[in-house]
Amino acid sequence: MDVLVINCGSSSLKYQLINTQTEEVLASGICDRIGIKGGQFSYKPKDGSKTTQNVEMPDHEVAIKLVLNALVNPKDGILKSLDEIKATGHRIVHGGEHFTESALVNDEVIHHIEECADLAPLHNPAHLLGIRACQHLMPNKPMVAVFDTAFHQTMPPRAYIYGLPYEYYEKYKIRRYGFHGTSHSYVSKRTAEFLGIPLENSKIITCHLGNGSSICAIENGKSIDTSMGLTPLEGLVMGTRSGDLDPAIIDYIAQKENLNTKEVINILNKKSGVLGISGLSSDFRDLLAADEEGNLKARFAREVFAYHVAKYIGSYTAALTGVDAITFCAGVGENAKFIRGKIVSHLQFLGITLDEKANLETIGKEGIISTKDSKVKVCVIPTNEELMIARDTRALVAGKHL
Ligand code: ADP
Repeated sequence: MDVLVINCGSSSLKYQLINTQTEEVLASGICDRIGIKGGQFSYKPKDGSKTTQNVEMPDHEVAIKLVLNALVNPKDGILKSLDEIKATGHRIVHGGEHFTESALVNDEVIHHIEECADLAPLHNPAHLLGIRACQHLMPNKPMVAVFDTAFHQTMPPRAYIYGLPYEYYEKYKIRRYGFHGTSHSYVSKRTAEFLGIPLENSKIITCHLGNGSSICAIENGKSIDTSMGLTPLEGLVMGTRSGDLDPAIIDYIAQKENLNTKEVINILNKKSGVLGISGLSSDFRDLLAADEEGNLKARFAREVFAYHVAKYIGSYTAALTGVDAITFCAGVGENAKFIRGKIVSHLQFLGITLDEKANLETIGKEGIISTKDSKVKVCVIPTNEELMIARDTRALVAGKHL
């Protein structure tokens, strides 16, 4: 079954056409700068050729129309007809407490995604634009919504409740939700398969380290705690996000800098993290290059990042009362060997030893980077959220036709 996976942001849209039998990516690309001057559309069929077009995309519907046209283009299109696409799978950031798993899109599901927009104002409205555009362009084609929060709905109350008056949870559903769930789910399953250990009897800590970063404690295949919270601002120090801090800092900065709360939160989201600490960049490649040239702030930002990741791994080892495997994924986790090395150097007390050679060689591919006698296996598993979305979409759509 061919499934079109769509990850819709407010001004960009990433897509992949995936054959769910072979799990092969038939085509992929990005629509960038939707609704902004200077739009760019890229299309990459499986033969590896890539075309990029400068084209204005006033809205998401125009962008998706470009995707569909490219897929059936007689020149380098991968499909003869759009009928070959059996369903679309949509990444949805926030599913609140309502969605504990992926769902076939209908009016009720759309209504609940709208309700959660309050909790993810930058993301959910954009996802809905994508869903509505698909409804319009491909009426009657089934759609599945796959939620970043759903995997974490297995967290016990003690992990998701904040130390706030309980009525705020009851009235406003203020609690930890967690994000990157599709990634943590995929990577934990794949870690168990890769190591040949039973997922249903395992303790795994997955570290999704990218621009946005989060960590998840997974017991017997189920998320029991995760570092992001009500929003993706909590947890680790990230590329541009502050992560955990004393909440009183917000008012303190507001007073000192004559800002309102929203403006301070904006700084915590966009100007903080390793960008804020280094004053240089949110990109770990830039920080490494600067560090090598002797930039001490770049070095310090990398150290802070690694320290926080290690601290979370330590606390999640306690949450799980032990750990069998720790897995790194996403841009930094899959590629940044020195950061991985720094993180693991904090974890020797757990009997973990790094295989230096394996760590240097395991870049962007699956591998074990701990030594054979390490008490805990440390792995690198490239994440694949699109494949998880395609799998869920197939499963729900196939179920519908039974
Ligand atoms: P997101 O999906 O959150 O945007 P990614 O998972 O794509 O992020 O990760 C992007 C980040 O990964 C970049 O900002 C960069 O810091 C880091 N990264 C990518 N490649 C490398 C590399 N070769 N070495 C170090 N860091 C890298």
